[in-house]
Amino acid sequence: MSRQFRAIQISKTDKGQKLDFVTLNENDLMPGDVTVAVEHSTVNYKDGLAVTGRAPIIRQFPLIPGIDFAGTVVSSANPLIKPGDKVILNGWGVGESHHGGFAGLARVKGDWLVAVPDNMTTAETMAIGTAGYTAMLCIIALERQGVRPENGEILVTGAAGGVGSIAIAILSKLGYRVAASTGRLEEESFLKGLGASQVIDRNEFSGPVKALGKTRWAGAVDAVGSATLANVLSQILPEGTVAACGLAQGMDLPASVAPFILRGVKLIGINSVTAALTRRVEAWSRLARDLDRAKLKDLTSHARLDDVPAIAADIVAGKIRGRVVIDI
Ligand code: NDP
Repeated sequence: MSRQFRAIQISKTDKGQKLDFVTLNENDLMPGDVTVAVEHSTVNYKDGLAVTGRAPIIRQFPLIPGIDFAGTVVSSANPLIKPGDKVILNGWGVGESHHGGFAGLARVKGDWLVAVPDNMTTAETMAIGTAGYTAMLCIIALERQGVRPENGEILVTGAAGGVGSIAIAILSKLGYRVAASTGRLEEESFLKGLGASQVIDRNEFSGPVKALGKTRWAGAVDAVGSATLANVLSQILPEGTVAACGLAQGMDLPASVAPFILRGVKLIGINSVTAALTRRVEAWSRLARDLDRAKLKDLTSHARLDDVPAIAADIVAGKIRGRVVIDI
């Protein structure tokens, strides 16, 4: 018997995008070899852009948005995955050109799925979501470039957002001293609770860009881009590294080459969407080990499918603190 499920569907109209809550049938799903009963999804910044139509994230209409989901496999033609398995989906164009996680049921390629780590719940994996998995990829990138706690302090930009708050929690557990850059200074106690040793007004980084500034940071996780990333680069200690993953301030990079050629600073780009399975599995096993679950709980709130449009508007307005899990 074909299963019915509730979903958000985005269609294209003459005036732009239209969002509906719909009841669909299993046969409405796109091709794939694994079908998953979705238990939880989440709203990432990219979901905010997709659902509000603020950026052309959705490339096929009508589409179920949602770039992340976690749940239980209900049927599988993939030899490595069986019904009952708990799985996570992050990226791969899901919620962009393939039906996504804001639905009771999803069908995808089994090659895109990662097993939920043994000691985690599906809800915890969505509290992490693409934002947290990307924070972990950024930290692994810093480690690969030789950034160690004894080298100095790490700066996290967009600190009160999803990538930023999880990056702070992981870095502090790993023994790094962490500075949090935020536009929401009222979140100081929240950010210090996650493990930040100091909280800095983001305006310090968003102004005119200097070619070289006073060196302050052994490394940085940047979710913001634009002038902020350029200013952060100008303050990195010799041979330090910045992992850049985001564009919350803007897609431009008005930077100078001076930090690269005079200080040996490294800028590493992070793309979570099509990261190879081995990198995903490594990131998820590190998250299972290196992210304090009590801190994850502190930075997470829960909402329902009906709340997604309002949360999407809030996340693009920079108003969401930490992470929001959608309980399907
Ligand atoms: P959030 O909205 O949760 O966090 C972004 C944060 O950036 C905000 O909370 C705010 O932090 C800060 N911010 C917002 N607007 C501005 C601005 N104009 N100037 C400076 N800072 C600003 O989003 P996520 O954490 O989910 O994602 C962060 C970024 O990372 C996004 O651009 C997203 O697209 C990108 N991303 C990229 C991935 C990849 O694969 N490369 C994967 C996941 C995310 P505060 O209030 O503390 O200042």
